[in-house]
Amino acid sequence: MTPYDDTPAQAAAPLIDGFGRTVRYLRVSVTDRCDLRCVYCMAEHMTFLPKAQVLTLEELDRIASAFVSLGTRKLRLTGGEPLVRKGVMGLVRGLSRHLASGALDELTLTTNGTQLGAFAGELADAGVRRINVSLDTLKPDLFRQLTRGGDLGKVLAGVAAAQAAGLAVKINAVALRDANAAEIPDLIRWAHGQGCDMTLIETMPMGEVDVDRTDEFLSLKDVRRELESFWTLEDIPLTTGGPARYVRVAETGGRLGFITPLSHNFCDTCNRVRLTCTGTLHTCLGREDATDLRAVLRAGASDAELADAIRAAVLAKPQGHDFRIVPRGASVSRHMSTTGG
Ligand code: SAM
Ligand code: SF4
Repeated sequence: MTPYDDTPAQAAAPLIDGFGRTVRYLRVSVTDRCDLRCVYCMAEHMTFLPKAQVLTLEELDRIASAFVSLGTRKLRLTGGEPLVRKGVMGLVRGLSRHLASGALDELTLTTNGTQLGAFAGELADAGVRRINVSLDTLKPDLFRQLTRGGDLGKVLAGVAAAQAAGLAVKINAVALRDANAAEIPDLIRWAHGQGCDMTLIETMPMGEVDVDRTDEFLSLKDVRRELESFWTLEDIPLTTGGPARYVRVAETGGRLGFITPLSHNFCDTCNRVRLTCTGTLHTCLGREDATDLRAVLRAGASDAELADAIRAAVLAKPQGHDFRIVPRGASVSRHMSTTGG
């Protein structure tokens, strides 16, 4: 890897879209690959991208750092599974210079947890303070089925390793009508018992998978109503500028978030954009809008030209998403593993 430029990010005018929203949060998918094959996320036999199409670690750093210089305060690495990307810790350590300079408030990641046993300590050393771990069930057989072969024990050990390293862990679970609906209260109790926040996510119709999404979709409105039949959920004004709405569960003392892209419209306060591992910038998770920043980089763009391309893309951020549940298909053709969840 080439040495990183450690000059402090220049203060530039923030990224503002055409509807007056300031973009301060970038999610970066560092790979489309994964060591699991969750049924709602990937097809069983995925064709992964050829290496030449995937941004190098240096290119990922350059684009992420351009966003930081344009006022991005929060970076989240995701994927695919970010911790299976070879050399990813070099990227994390490189990006952590923006934490040290004060240009960035937070560097974090979303992971399936399988590799945390190996990486938790290094992540903490690099300045990562919080991570999201995706976990939909505590039943080993169901976990193996939902992830097509995953080992629940590894994830639980990963969560423990992260906590031992001092990382705050938030558990994310996708709510699935048949698979885990009945287990959701137990998952919440477990997460809160571990001192973790928990967020429930509605399935989003992204990418062709092998299952019928109309069968899987579970409205979080219904989940919330069910939880309220035996728990007290107190609204808390924790707003991340994102799609999650939070409550405190009085009985467990823990925080619970609901991400409801389909039954609730969160677009008017959206402050985030997403970069795929191929360098495509999506300014809305639920639209087909796309700007090819890899082409800009590989054409030899200067930092100013790269910043201009980013500004133009953000200016065109759509006002809102367009998700619809489509049986077996998808209203947005790319997979979550490509876009980064
Ligand atoms: N591999 C990492 C993980 O699983 O946390 C990071 C990438 S994964 C695509 C990010 C998040 O997206 C996970 O919490 C996953 O459950 C969620 N996800 C994947 N496909 C989804 C879908 N179709 N609808 C809703 N959430 C989805
Ligand atoms: Fe992999 Fe995450 Fe997708 Fe599951 S949700 S297949 S862990 S990228």
